[in-house]
Amino acid sequence: MTLVEKVKKRERLTQEEGEALYDLDLFVLGELADEIRQERFGKKSYFNINRHINPTNVCADICKFCAYSASRKNPNQYTLSHEQILEIASSSIANGAKELHIVSAHNPNDGVEWYMGAFRKIRAKFPDVHIKSMTAAEIDFITREYGHSYDEVLDMMIENGVDSMPGGGAEIFDEKIREYLCKGKVTSEQWLDIHEKWHNRGKESNATMLFGHVETRAHRIDHMLRLRELQDKTGGFNAFIPLVYQKDNNFLKVQTFPTGQEILKTYAISRILLDNIPHIKAYWATSTINLALIAQEFGADDLDGTIEKESIQSAAGAKSAMGMQLVEFVDMIQSAGFIPVERDSLYNELKIYSREKN
Ligand code: SF4
Repeated sequence: MTLVEKVKKRERLTQEEGEALYDLDLFVLGELADEIRQERFGKKSYFNINRHINPTNVCADICKFCAYSASRKNPNQYTLSHEQILEIASSSIANGAKELHIVSAHNPNDGVEWYMGAFRKIRAKFPDVHIKSMTAAEIDFITREYGHSYDEVLDMMIENGVDSMPGGGAEIFDEKIREYLCKGKVTSEQWLDIHEKWHNRGKESNATMLFGHVETRAHRIDHMLRLRELQDKTGGFNAFIPLVYQKDNNFLKVQTFPTGQEILKTYAISRILLDNIPHIKAYWATSTINLALIAQEFGADDLDGTIEKESIQSAAGAKSAMGMQLVEFVDMIQSAGFIPVERDSLYNELKIYSREKN
């Protein structure tokens, strides 16, 4: 049986077969991924109205690819107070945001209560907003810095109002590449362990992969397969998000941007390989909006959201600093031939936008 036949029969692929997918013609691969996407979601493309809040850029870790952390090239340190975080949340929720996506650098100055107090205050003031916060890397940092166990931090998150976990900090799971990129940060095994513990509490999370830097195609496939293995056990990942490496203002010194073809192949392969993770997200903040729109034909069914404001990827050169207007976002999805569906953070459908009655 050929590889293409195997995919058409929906058989599971191995590491070697995953790597061989990259050798297929881009459009053959796209068609295979699109078939699977259409089987599950037709022409629907999901997004949510969210606000990214990055409360501090002060960081004790030193990831080579990072342009956001204030401990390296960025001299402009900031840490938001709870009042400032609440103010941002208030204005975003007044503008329609239903999810607050809160991700911080690893600030050694503020203690666990700075995190938990912020969640508690947001939850008290806005009982309905979805709080997506604390990457596995942040959780691991807190346990190292303040002497808590993973279980304690995860329980505190739930008690204080966190609904789901973002997928950040995964980078690339291969241990050698990881050691080169971000020595000292959460290990691959720990990242997976934290998500497993979260899923075992009945909670959902996202998973990411940072690609297009020093990793090989084989490392990407290995990364996806480690996620697939955990997902077989827990079923708690709701989306996989391949993040395209941004080259500005960091210490990695990789100055090339992966080609559009390589990015689209990676989306398509993730759709084919990750047969147990429902949503593949083309996060336009790192892929560019134009490529994210095309990615809808290569297996991606989710374009993240309007974002409103974003600091981490834009520090490294992404054009996402000011987010996007809802009308513009919906119009672009429709013009690309897809049906925009506003979702909540757990993929319940809130509004289907038809051309006639937006
Ligand atoms: S990627 Fe995160 S943990 Fe690493 S240096 Fe940047 S802010 Fe710190």
